[in-house]
Amino acid sequence: MTDWPRLQAFDRDHIWHPYAKMPNPQPPLAVTSTQGSRITLANGRELIDGMSSWWAAIHGYNHPDIVRAMHAQIDTMPHIMFGGLTHEPAIQLAQQLVKLSPEGLEKVFFVDSGSVAMEVAIKMALQYQISRGKPSKSRLLSIKGGYHGDTFATMALCDPDNGMHTTFGPLLPRHFFAPRPNPGMDNTDNSDIEALETMLAKHHDQIAAITLEPIIQGAGGMRPYRPAYLKQVRALCDRFDVLLIADEIATGFGRTGELFGCDWAGITPDIMALGKTLTGGHITLAATLATEAVSDTISQGEPGLLMHGPTYMANPLACAAASANIDTLLASPWRDNIARIQRHFETHLRPLNEQDSVKDVRILGAIAAVELTRADLGPRIQDLAVEQGVWLRPFGALIYTMPAYNIGHSDLTRLTDGMKTAIDQALQESATP
Ligand SMILES: *Cc1c(COP(=O)(O)O)cnc(C)c1O
Repeated sequence: MTDWPRLQAFDRDHIWHPYAKMPNPQPPLAVTSTQGSRITLANGRELIDGMSSWWAAIHGYNHPDIVRAMHAQIDTMPHIMFGGLTHEPAIQLAQQLVKLSPEGLEKVFFVDSGSVAMEVAIKMALQYQISRGKPSKSRLLSIKGGYHGDTFATMALCDPDNGMHTTFGPLLPRHFFAPRPNPGMDNTDNSDIEALETMLAKHHDQIAAITLEPIIQGAGGMRPYRPAYLKQVRALCDRFDVLLIADEIATGFGRTGELFGCDWAGITPDIMALGKTLTGGHITLAATLATEAVSDTISQGEPGLLMHGPTYMANPLACAAASANIDTLLASPWRDNIARIQRHFETHLRPLNEQDSVKDVRILGAIAAVELTRADLGPRIQDLAVEQGVWLRPFGALIYTMPAYNIGHSDLTRLTDGMKTAIDQALQESATP
C-alpha cells in the first residue's frame, strides 16, 4: 500500500508546484489515474475534469488511439537527437501541421513547451528583421491582457500590470503595449484598432512584430474578441512592415469552434506558435510555424541559420502522440461537440450573470469563464467543487472551465452543476460574517 500521508508530506516540503509557495498552504490532491474526463484521486474519489489539464487534453485522458501510437513508438525509438538526423514521426507531424494550419505557413520548428515555441517565434522575428537590414526593428508590440509564457522573453510580452513585470521589471526588455481588444465577438467599437494604428504609425521603425492570442485572450482573462479586429491587425502589419506572431498555444486545434483562432478571420500570421493542445495532453511538445518569406530571409541573411536547437527537439514519442491526436481530432465530430458544449454553457452558466457578485460570464466554443467581483474566493471554490466531484482550478476572480470535446452529457451537466454550487456556496459563506 502506498503511504500517501508520507508521500504528500514530502511533496509539501520539497516539491514546487506551479505558482506556489513552499510549503504549500493549499496542498495538492494526489492523483493515481485518469481516464476520459475522469480523474481518480488517491483517496479513491473520482472527479469530473473541468480543466483538460490547462487546455491540453482535448479528447480526454488516455485516449486509446493516442496511447496506442505512443506504445508503438516507445518500443521502436523513444528519442533520438534531431541534429543531422530525421525520422518519420517528425515528418508526418510536420506534413499534418503544414496542411491544417492557415495557408502559407509551411516551415516547422519543433520545441518542448509553449513558452519556448514563443521564444523561437520572437527569435525568428528578430532574425528576420536583422537579415533584411532592419536591425532597428528590434522591439515587439504586444496586447495588454495577454499571456505568452513564463520565460524571460515571453514574460516581457505578458500583461504589463497583472503579469510578472512588477517582479522582474528591470530585467525585461521594454516592448510596446496596445490596449486590449474591445470585449465581445459582436463589438463594433474600433477604438482599439485606432489606438494600435497610432502606435504603429509612430513606432513601426522600431517594431519587429506584433504578438497576440487570436480570438480569445486566454490565461490573461478569457476574453473573446471580434474576428474583424484580427483582420485589421493583419492589414496594419502589412502596411507598417511588421510581422504578425499568432500565439495559438491555447486556441489551436478546435477549442474556440474553428480549427485555429486565425481561421475566424481567415488570416495567415507570419509566425504561429502551437503547444498545449498539440499532443492532446499526453506528453509535452510544441512547435513554431513560419512562412517561406520568413525562413528564406533568415536563411539568406547573417548568420544564415536559425539560432535555436533544443536537445529534445522533435522527440519522436511526442511527435507520434501529436500525429495521433490530430488524426483523432479530424476523425471526430469536433465541431458538433464544441457547439454542443457552447450551447450547454449558454443555458447553464450564462444565467449566473444575473447575480450581483458575478461581474461577467464569458463563453466561446468549449470555454466558459465566470468572473466574480472579488478575487479571493478561488481556493475555497476549488475545495467546494472537489466536494461536488468536479475538478476546477480558479485563477483570481476567474472561475473557468474548458472540458474535453467528447465529454458526455451527464458529466457535462455534473460539471456545470458542481461549478454553480461551488460558486454559490462560497459566495454565501463569504456574505455571512
Ligand atoms: C500556456 C500558454 C503559453 C505557455 O505554454 P507553456 O507550455 O506553459 O510554456 C503561451 N501562450 C499561451 C497563449 C498559453 O496559453
